[in-house]
Amino acid sequence: MALLVHKYGGTSVGSVERIQNVAKRVIKAQNDGNQIVVVVSAMSGETNRLLALADEISKENSPRELDVLVSTGEQVTIALLAMAIQAEGKQAKSYTGGQVRITTDNAHSKARIQHIDDEKIRADLAAGNIVIVAGFQGVDEHGNITTLGRGGSDTSAVALAAALKADECQIYTDVNGVYTTDPRVEPNAKKLDKITFEEMLEMASLGSKVLQIRSVEFAGKYNVPLRVLSSFEDGGEGTLITMEESDVEAPLVSGIAFDKNEALIKVKNIPHKPGMAYRVLDLVSSQNIEVDMIVQNDSQDGCTDLTFTVPKAEMDKVLSIITGAAEELGDIEVRGDKDVVKLSIVGIGMQSHAGVATKMFKILSDENINIKLIATSEIKISTVIDEKYLELGVRALHEGFELDK
Ligand code: ADP
Ligand code: ASP
Ligand code: MG
Repeated sequence: MALLVHKYGGTSVGSVERIQNVAKRVIKAQNDGNQIVVVVSAMSGETNRLLALADEISKENSPRELDVLVSTGEQVTIALLAMAIQAEGKQAKSYTGGQVRITTDNAHSKARIQHIDDEKIRADLAAGNIVIVAGFQGVDEHGNITTLGRGGSDTSAVALAAALKADECQIYTDVNGVYTTDPRVEPNAKKLDKITFEEMLEMASLGSKVLQIRSVEFAGKYNVPLRVLSSFEDGGEGTLITMEESDVEAPLVSGIAFDKNEALIKVKNIPHKPGMAYRVLDLVSSQNIEVDMIVQNDSQDGCTDLTFTVPKAEMDKVLSIITGAAEELGDIEVRGDKDVVKLSIVGIGMQSHAGVATKMFKILSDENINIKLIATSEIKISTVIDEKYLELGVRALHEGFELDK
């Protein structure tokens, strides 16, 4: 008998009918002879709706109360799914994160899972239940509710699969697997039968929201077999995230990712002397704001420019912090740009090939797309471009690197 963890995201549980569809699917999986633990997200749009309510009260709500608020979305879904399974004459039992006892650190809104008690779940499974667990949430050591960051139900599912030593963690979503790029932006995107763990990690970290990055990290760390499948279609194999080493024949570029969540900050006229990059970036990171890409130019007339990206939601705050310190930093100038997107290509195969970056830049230049920032690593090349060219850029790169073949 196999133990499977299924996870259904917001769209897959977006209405009563869809929850009933999930109930039928998990009952079928149980009838096929498996033990089933189901992790669910909030119904689609619910987490955003709750955050908007909080926003109406204040722009600076307490992180603790925000977690109390947003965790309610998942609590609704677990109860409705348990009822839908019971209505089909089967046994089901639902748990919030705190009831399972999924313990996390106390970093509200971006907590990390530290421990999962598996006793109750194992006992319920042994008694014939389908066990349903609320995704995205846990409790800290004092019992405060915490959440795991947007898309965090993926991580709940993988962490439960690791704790239960499940045979597979199956992420059911509104696409039937991982594609060469977001199929909603490039209709010619190709579904991948498998993708290496390393490439999936890179795709997720560069913005492909099909899996939350922490879920991929967790799967790698604990060797959890992970698969992405459709919650609407039957019988597909989806995409397996493999731990296998990539083969020497790996394609140059295996995927294209983009992230609409970053804004560009440009600081000009910084005195070119030791410690200045540190002083500017320290203003940002000491506010717990993550800086992603960073580029500094060489000196011109004793001054330099520093350009970096921060989450869009934090741009105004960053501008005001740096403007506030402008004078003591030697009369620097600062500007922000929200209408940008980070566009990246990923591929294990590019490690051993020169000229991939040049080819990427040529493809973008042939479409008259201006590149504002570049960053590279062994298996990815990222650019920042105007957001209005996102679709054009994705499609041109997809075709140029022959990902549709
Ligand atoms: P869920 O609510 O089930 O967690 P998400 O919206 O978080 O679903 O993730 C699924 C979405 O991820 C798809 O609808 C698709 O638009 C997007 N996506 C982005 N990049 C990819 C990719 N490379 N392959 C498949 N889907 C992708
Ligand atoms: N409901 C949460 C979100 O919208 C968690 C999830 O769906 O994975 O981000
Ligand atoms: Mg998701």
